[in-house]
Amino acid sequence: MSGGSSKNITIQRRGLMLVISSPSGAGKSTIARNLLESDIGLSLSVSVTTRKRRPSEIDGVHYHFISVKEFERLRDSDALLEWAEVHGNYYGTPREPVETAMSEGRDMLFDIDWQGALQLQEKMRADVVAIFILPPSMTELQSRLHRRAEDTAEVIATRLANSRAEIEHWREYDYIIVNDDLQHAYESMRAIVCSERLRRDRRPGLFDFVRELLEENPVLS
Ligand code: ADP
Ligand code: 5GP
Repeated sequence: MSGGSSKNITIQRRGLMLVISSPSGAGKSTIARNLLESDIGLSLSVSVTTRKRRPSEIDGVHYHFISVKEFERLRDSDALLEWAEVHGNYYGTPREPVETAMSEGRDMLFDIDWQGALQLQEKMRADVVAIFILPPSMTELQSRLHRRAEDTAEVIATRLANSRAEIEHWREYDYIIVNDDLQHAYESMRAIVCSERLRRDRRPGLFDFVRELLEENPVLS
């Protein structure tokens, strides 16, 4: 490029807490995985759970699989930022990794249910962006749960039975995405992240940037 100077402009901002929820099988883990594997710069908050590990899951990557006793110890020592019982198992968000990421201005993604989303919204409203994923139909939700083929018939039945009550919470979220076409849902998520990063109140560095901008006096040419 000629006729101008360019520099990399970094404006300091607060970390984003991207919370996604959906009834089981609507596709939130798939969308989350695609986002985490992309260049968008999000890291996953790895929850603790007392649920049994699925064949495809890795301890420490998808969840920290722990006993009920260990869960209760973490919960009672305030080591969890939020926790809930979902489909008969305990799930919770370890506090320390989130607080570190937020203080360093890094963005985190939370795959948690409506109870957890509500707790994070109550505690950290300014940092939370909550997204609810809906299936295109209940028939498709059911077939996705079967296609995933990682749960027993009994577990699938419990999850389907709970899905209507979960969907009732859609109004508590900032954005709603209907996951019909996966690529489209993924692009919608990216658009949300990009827009939310630009919000004025999330970018305290703008004060310095604008002050310096206004102090600059270009030489007339
Ligand atoms: P959740 O995390 O919400 O329980 P998953 O991400 O595990 O759901 O998705 C459930 C199943 O549906 C998986 O087999 C996944 O590959 C599939 N799936 C996800 N999104 C779509 C989509 N848009 N179209 C078809 N299948 C999908
Ligand atoms: P799954 O057993 O399918 O991995 O998850 C079941 C439900 O628990 C999903 O709705 C998922 O988002 C939710 N979940 C996972 N981790 C957490 C967590 O740390 N806290 C809360 N509140 N829910 C969680």
